Amino acid sequence: MPQRACFVCKERGEKEDFLNLKKIDKKFIKDILNEIPENLENIFKNTSSILCLDLYSKLPGKGINVCPKKSCLKETLKKLFKNKNVDIEAFIEFLIRNFEKEIINKLKRARKAGLLLIGLDNISLKDKDGFLFVSSTISQKNKEKLKAHFKNFFEIDETDLSYLLGMENKNIKYILLKSTPLGKDIKRLLNLYIKLKQEK
Ligand SMILES: [Zn+2]
Repeated sequence: MPQRACFVCKERGEKEDFLNLKKIDKKFIKDILNEIPENLENIFKNTSSILCLDLYSKLPGKGINVCPKKSCLKETLKKLFKNKNVDIEAFIEFLIRNFEKEIINKLKRARKAGLLLIGLDNISLKDKDGFLFVSSTISQKNKEKLKAHFKNFFEIDETDLSYLLGMENKNIKYILLKSTPLGKDIKRLLNLYIKLKQEK
């Protein structure tokens, strides 16, 4: 796997550990995206280009890899937009909303396809190659036990997890995504989302 480095702090990692951002001239943006997301237009008011999140490496141009962290995003905006004041909080909020929309849709798809198991009772130990996300509120003992069995073990905020599943009132503590391309993609999006929210 080729390693990438953050545009700002130079920390190295794999492609999926970074946000892939692209600076696109406003003159071309309408041809590329059909429409500028309304919030982005407000965030990049006085600039000639806007910074887009390229979740699937589909936008033209050279991507900029940035850690999903406030400090690195802030520095990126400073470097790319010089003296123009771009609202970093609004930009991070925009990124988070973007991830949420994507993840919600994909979780729905995965659920329909039987690739998403919700709740510990529905998760079989046989699915040890799957991607297990557990609420950070479960006991340390339980975490250790599950970690020992599932090599792809991740912690997530319980409220966020329930929200993303559209089950706000249910306090979802465990989900397992089967090891398929869709599962892998959701895992990547979820991990970037978790970091973005943590580092706020
Ligand atoms: Zn960085």
